[in-house]
Amino acid sequence: MTKQFDVVIIGAGPAGLTAGIYCSRAGLQTLILEKMAVGGQILKADIVENYPAFPDGISGFDLMEKMRKQAEKFGAEFISEEALELKTHNSKLITHSSKLIAVHTSEGTKYPAKAIIIATGANPKELGIKGETELTGKGVSYCATCDGPLFKNKDVIIIGGGDAAVGEAIYLTRFANKVTIVHRRDKLRAAEILQQKFLKSKRAEVKWNCVVTEILGTEKVHGLKIKNVKTNQEKNIPADGVFVYVGVKPNTDFLKGRTGLDDKGFIITNEDMQTSVPGIFACGDARKNTLKQVVVACSEGAQAAYSCRHYIEGL
Ligand code: NAP
Repeated sequence: MTKQFDVVIIGAGPAGLTAGIYCSRAGLQTLILEKMAVGGQILKADIVENYPAFPDGISGFDLMEKMRKQAEKFGAEFISEEALELKTHNSKLITHSSKLIAVHTSEGTKYPAKAIIIATGANPKELGIKGETELTGKGVSYCATCDGPLFKNKDVIIIGGGDAAVGEAIYLTRFANKVTIVHRRDKLRAAEILQQKFLKSKRAEVKWNCVVTEILGTEKVHGLKIKNVKTNQEKNIPADGVFVYVGVKPNTDFLKGRTGLDDKGFIITNEDMQTSVPGIFACGDARKNTLKQVVVACSEGAQAAYSCRHYIEGL
């Protein structure tokens, strides 16, 4: 017989694991589903220096291992399967309030629950150009907050022109010798205040109307090949590090076609992490929010668990 859970948490990154700790500690029968490795995106970070209580920093792997153990200690169960669909118990799509929810997975399993917390996270969009995958971790990064300090007094390039690109470019001017934004248009998308702050730095430069066609290097990054889209002229520019900030993609494909997502696929919730469907909560990077950091994901996971507990008590 299929086991009935109080709550199924989809995703075992910082948001899902924190929700798991809070739910299981509150005595709820808790299942955490994860399609990949427990820990999520932060597993890629060699060192996390800004998560409180670790003054010497901690590796992403070690931090997530501690969170996993903590959730397990309080009784959360883990299963490695991918959530494909959220349905009612009688296999109808959930479109409105339903007290009978189930998560259907890649293994053809159905996990019935009283509530669901979606914590599936997001992944940085990649450029898909030559050298990008090969040099990731060898000078190519998607997280200036994580890797910026490694580029003290070096020359770095940021690709992209949104809030994230320009915000992180400003952060990098604290360490790097030179920070060059390569942007495909002649106008940045980022908020004016960020643009002004970046452009007034002596270390800042922008290459307008340019796309990157290749990241150069073998053992580590030594430059980029860029093309001016107005003149079609190509040239190589030197760089020690490349930060790709061309947007993020939430892992919400399995929710496509449903209401309650913004135009980029992020899940919209109220401040209690409640989605448009009662009994379904969302937290972390898959949620529409402004700061994508581990500590924020943990905080949202705790809030989602708290709201979920109150919802279940009210059933
Ligand atoms: P974004 O706003 O979607 O910006 C992506 C940038 O990458 C755009 O400048 C875009 O160029 C460029 N781009 C996209 N694909 C590209 C490609 N293939 N090659 C070259 N350039 C490419 O994404 P984001 O900056 O990650 O921000 C995501 C959301 O979080 C936004 O809503 C943002 O406001 C929010 N956010 C807020 C803050 C804050 O409030 N402090 C900080 C970070 C993020 P075009 O401009 O030409 O389209």
